[in-house]
Amino acid sequence: MAPTRPEEYQAYKELENRDPWKHRTQGTSCATCMWFVEKGKLGRCRRHAPTMSGYPVVYSTDWCGDHKLDETKV
Ligand code: SF4
Repeated sequence: MAPTRPEEYQAYKELENRDPWKHRTQGTSCATCMWFVEKGKLGRCRRHAPTMSGYPVVYSTDWCGDHKLDETKV
């Protein structure tokens, strides 16, 4: 339940609007991942074997939970 006093309400709203995941993935983007192979403006994720559609197409700014840092890309 939101507080009713104006100063408490303002602090409550600031907390509520804060995104705890903001910038969370900056260090784990495809651009710095060892599975990422750049192909022009896009890239391919080689984390797993290709499917009938080939390797997944990703942007360098994408990310996923399988990210593995390639120290040569940072
Ligand atoms: S999709 Fe995941 S595993 Fe694939 S290149 Fe991007 S971060 Fe790495």
